[in-house]
Amino acid sequence: MHNNSVNKPLLEVKDLCVAYGKVEALTQANLTVGEGQIVTVIGPNGAGKTTLLSAIMGVLGSKGQVCFDGTLESVPEVETLVGRGLGLVPEKRELFSSMSVEDNLKLGGFMRYRKGDRYQDSSLMEIYSLFPRLLERRKQAAATLSGGERQMLAVGRALMAKPKLLMLDEPSLGLAPLITREIFRIITDLRRQGVSILLVEQNARAALRVADYAYVLETGQIAMQGPAAELADDPRVVEAYLGAASKHQEMLAS
Ligand code: ATP
Repeated sequence: MHNNSVNKPLLEVKDLCVAYGKVEALTQANLTVGEGQIVTVIGPNGAGKTTLLSAIMGVLGSKGQVCFDGTLESVPEVETLVGRGLGLVPEKRELFSSMSVEDNLKLGGFMRYRKGDRYQDSSLMEIYSLFPRLLERRKQAAATLSGGERQMLAVGRALMAKPKLLMLDEPSLGLAPLITREIFRIITDLRRQGVSILLVEQNARAALRVADYAYVLETGQIAMQGPAAELADDPRVVEAYLGAASKHQEMLAS
């Protein structure tokens, strides 16, 4: 098994372990995201993908090492990491549902604002140009948005903090194919703007198409890794994640 050899690692995770009580949900996970890379973690339900992102972000306690942007986080803490440029879009989106689209976005930039950065309006305009749909609906309460719009808002809110690395937990979950395509288009746009991406997905086909490098997580362990294009051709990946059966599953899910 080779490693993701990158010039400049932005995120390096070493021997990360998470246990829920006596049950180990993540075992000795090693993972690297290079600057400017899109890295994906694919795997079945319950493999530990959300657990991995939560541990990196400091939402969950873990053992092991998380090194972000050159600094080792001995105990990863959400607020510190957000301030240093790590963003997470959680699977459940977690919007403030009674608040408007625009207020949700402004809250995403709150930490920057508190530190004295007064460029909130220009950041808002950048988000609206990325997601024109959000501009149309900026006064609408988040609760009344469609699934795709909610996902756009969740991504937009994370972007307001100007992250260097954006972690996305199943951005295509529950979305129709056209909207899924839109979300993946935005992921490649973001990379062009210099944001690195760690993408967790069950939609392996779409994830391997946009990513540079990929990890397969199975029952809490990294079972395979490699350049995304190589993994997409690997017979084991094809059989388990890209074959006719999974295509059927994908259709049911969409
Ligand atoms: P999915 O694709 O279904 O979201 P996942 O790969 O993100 O799955 P996790 O949500 O990380 O998987 O869950 C990994 C394992 O840990 C599962 O077996 C799950 O039941 C278990 N687990 C997750 N959260 C908890 C918790 N708070 N307490 C106990 N067990 C948990």
